[in-house]
Amino acid sequence: MKTLFILALALTAVLSGCGTPTATPEPAPARSEGVPGPTLFETAWRDPGPFLVGLVESQAESLDALPAATVYHLDLDLSDDLTVVEGIEEILYTNNEAAPLDQIALHLYPNLLGGEMEVESVHLNGEGVTPDEGEAGGWMMVPLGNGLAPGESVVLRLKFSVRVPQELDLNYGVLASTSGVLAYAHGYPMVAVYDDEGWNVGIPAPYGDLTYADAALFLVRVRAPEQIVVCASGSQIERSQADGQQVVTYALAPARDFYLAASGAYEVLTRQAGPTSIRTCAAADMQAAARRALDIAARSLELFSRLYAPYPYTELDIVATPNLALGIEYPGAFALNQRLLTPEEDFQSAPEGVLLESVVVHETAHEWFYNLVGNDQLDDPWLDEALAQYATLQYYEEAYGSQGAEGMLDSFYGRWERVDREPIPIGLPVAEYAEGAYGAIVYGRGPLFFVALKEAMGAGPFEDFLGEYTATYRWKLATPEELRALAEGRCGCDLTTLFQEWVYAR
Ligand SMILES: [Zn+2]
Repeated sequence: MKTLFILALALTAVLSGCGTPTATPEPAPARSEGVPGPTLFETAWRDPGPFLVGLVESQAESLDALPAATVYHLDLDLSDDLTVVEGIEEILYTNNEAAPLDQIALHLYPNLLGGEMEVESVHLNGEGVTPDEGEAGGWMMVPLGNGLAPGESVVLRLKFSVRVPQELDLNYGVLASTSGVLAYAHGYPMVAVYDDEGWNVGIPAPYGDLTYADAALFLVRVRAPEQIVVCASGSQIERSQADGQQVVTYALAPARDFYLAASGAYEVLTRQAGPTSIRTCAAADMQAAARRALDIAARSLELFSRLYAPYPYTELDIVATPNLALGIEYPGAFALNQRLLTPEEDFQSAPEGVLLESVVVHETAHEWFYNLVGNDQLDDPWLDEALAQYATLQYYEEAYGSQGAEGMLDSFYGRWERVDREPIPIGLPVAEYAEGAYGAIVYGRGPLFFVALKEAMGAGPFEDFLGEYTATYRWKLATPEELRALAEGRCGCDLTTLFQEWVYAR
């Protein structure tokens, strides 16, 4: 919390216009010669081959723009009762910064989520090293010996195990094994983002999203009992079965995280939406609502692909889990609270299906705002959440005309009403909001800012700006100042007053 507070002060200073951001010097080209080759998979580190099956044709070149992205190779072994995961991880990491690095920070999220991640060994280019443990065991620093010059690469190999919590407790139960369903989020040591604040290892607030991550490449082998249905980010590229176990390999890139859910009760439904196959993984009694979720997701994919950029993957997985949120987004996948799919569940007294539709649209929109265009979800949660909400408004307008749009606008005002429409800035870090105000402001007032921005810029320039924002920060990380600069460039106007009224802390 302390780290976050200091970061928040620094951010506030930048947002107040005290400093002009300096241009980041171009990093040196990536070099990975001299580092150990992969041992978990028989493929060269950055061979695009395994990933092509998971990318739609128009996005097949996506990896060309990421020649120095981190490569994760993971081997995950799920216990029979889905409460323990044994893992081996190899990471190819290239210093993409302008300065040498003397350590690499890795998040150990399960330790912040009521579980336990034990890292048994760490090897750096084949040599054993001893990392320093960070606050609450939530991260660790791996020393790099003589340092890592810009453009240079290293290979980390880690052996770890995760005890998954068996209750829905922290951060909405994103990591949990309950009622026969394993929800496995952020369950491997994840490289932190290095930016102008250094390594981002702030401890996330328990009521926001946890991650801030660069786009990376993932090859993941999952071993699980054969009667379990595994639903994961990415595309299955290999599968075998022997001795009561299944072994499935997934390829996913570019992406900011890898997620899986698993259950013996899952049944799979699929529906094609253009080049993408959408799948639901849900229990037998949830199939009617799952079919509906498929249709809503298909319509959302079609709309957002047209408005923003093509959906990059050939697969999207929707998994039902017993979480405490309504939905939770991951690259190429999202989790739905299974109560949304359960017949006769009078969830939050919403009329049947209404909540399901808005949640599916919102989570699908995160594939653009969070995964394709990344942001710091701890410091700038509004960049992905308010835009996902605004995209949901666009869907309702498209699907149901002005009446649909009115209804969604009313729901935004309704959320904001929970804090009596206080003009609390939408641009604060998660941790600076009181728990109740976070949802009311970022999800309620946040999308209303984009409505006001459209009004100020004019509809045409505003739509061009959203398209340009997506294209410019595709597979990169965006900041509020960059978003503002693009908007001002598009309208040729000064948006200082509007941003002061809505976004910035005063
Ligand atoms: Zn969201």
